Amino acid sequence: MVTEYFTVNEKNIDSEETAEFLAHCKEIIGEGGLVVFPTETVYGLGADALNGEAVKKIFTAKGRPADNPLIVHIADVKKADDVSSMTETERERFNKLAKAFWPGPLTMIVTKNESVPDAVTCGLGTVGIRLPENKYARKFIEAVGTPIAAPSANTSGKPSPTLASHVKEDMDGKVNAIIDGGACRVGLESTVIDLTGEVPCILRPGGVTLEMVKKILPEATQLAWKKEEQPKEDIEKPKSPGLKYKHYAPNAKVVILQGDSDTVAKRIAWALENARLRNAKAAAMITDEQKKYFSKEDNIVCMGKADDGETQAAKLFATLRDFDDCGITEVYATAMKEDGVGYAVMNRLYRAAGCLMVPCKKILFVCTGNTCRSFMAEYILKGLIEKRMAAGEIEACATEVSSAGVYAEDGGWPTENAVDVLKDIYEIDGSQHRATKVTAEILDKADLILTMTAGHKRVLLGFFPEYADKVFTLAEKACGGDVEDPFAGSYKTYVDSAMHIEEMIVKAGL
Ligand code: AMP
Ligand code: MG
Repeated sequence: MVTEYFTVNEKNIDSEETAEFLAHCKEIIGEGGLVVFPTETVYGLGADALNGEAVKKIFTAKGRPADNPLIVHIADVKKADDVSSMTETERERFNKLAKAFWPGPLTMIVTKNESVPDAVTCGLGTVGIRLPENKYARKFIEAVGTPIAAPSANTSGKPSPTLASHVKEDMDGKVNAIIDGGACRVGLESTVIDLTGEVPCILRPGGVTLEMVKKILPEATQLAWKKEEQPKEDIEKPKSPGLKYKHYAPNAKVVILQGDSDTVAKRIAWALENARLRNAKAAAMITDEQKKYFSKEDNIVCMGKADDGETQAAKLFATLRDFDDCGITEVYATAMKEDGVGYAVMNRLYRAAGCLMVPCKKILFVCTGNTCRSFMAEYILKGLIEKRMAAGEIEACATEVSSAGVYAEDGGWPTENAVDVLKDIYEIDGSQHRATKVTAEILDKADLILTMTAGHKRVLLGFFPEYADKVFTLAEKACGGDVEDPFAGSYKTYVDSAMHIEEMIVKAGL
């Protein structure tokens, strides 16, 4: 099939030429063909929603799994009745949300009527409906005169298209026409909200956030999407079929690093440096605030300010596609703030990364002098992390480990027995370690502070009560006992102490 291309813009939108092309689109759609059109979210791959055979072609063109339903696009609220048969509750919720957010990036799921073919809903009794804000999209739907079923116009699994050039990459020769309307304003797919349940529930986050919806429907909730937050049955049988597929993924392996912004930035800079040494083509997605940690050699994309979810959303998919074009094989992305639209950005990034999100944690071990116990704990944990990485047990680790002592003398040497035990049992060289005294600055930077005994915890919190929420004894985390002071004891005392620390580090899951 030869794909036709047409560009609409502010100048020609009301021209005769555009009217002619849209009349041509009406013919294409009427004959069961496919037309790609711009929307404010992403580009849509449209067919007549009332023609099952036409809709099936969408699935073929995209390589979309047959159980992932499509959204029906309309240009006039009243047309929702052409495809739905809402209950009273649905109708009430629908009217309120339509008034607040339509036209716009919100898809509402309601009970469907018999005119909607199974191909659109994949056999579900419900249908997702959206009235887009994009002027060109509405003009197209109006001109065609029928509801348009349309998913994102990308090959299934790839990042959604936010430019006509992205569509061309995936759909040239597979669709009848592509309407180029420039860059999509929002850049992420619509928010999908299910209005058929006991309470309205956001199944897919997007440009319309839960906070915005709650202002209209205070009882509204949101599905959890991070693996660790999801009930097991939701992972196996998701409420929205589309949620179970790997999505938005570039060819590169994507890793998200999460934690304090500066720690994450330093860690990503290190990952890029490391990739250079291995001759791997790596790139990073960071916030404007993190830029200062990178050099000219680093392949970085600034996604906007940390709290600017709108800008990040608009850039996300295009950036992921660019990485593919440049042959990037590893992407290190900073986790974004999950406020407002940032929440939807993180949802897409998380799925692009195949759920690989690595916490950048800073663990601080504390004892008295930082020459025996906390010193050994620091090096034992560092050694364990290295071993796990080498054995392939963990894919990536961004934990930083350090130690300090409540009464330490800055610069003090570690005890000889501790250095020997590390060398003999763990093959770790700790001889360069120097003691550090605990300060507010050190405590401030740590995410988790672990003391060797309950006494250390008491003293530490006596000096710095403001850190109570992140100070624990190692024993508390490992359900074990205090690590006795080996100081001035025999070599054997140090061996016992080290073994006890190691056992508790493993038990605590550090
Ligand atoms: P796409 O058009 O590619 O953005 O995908 C549409 C999204 O809406 C997918 O995540 C679908 O699973 C979801 N969706 C569409 N219709 C329904 C429905 N009736 N029930 C639940 N989810 C739906
Ligand atoms: Mg899609």
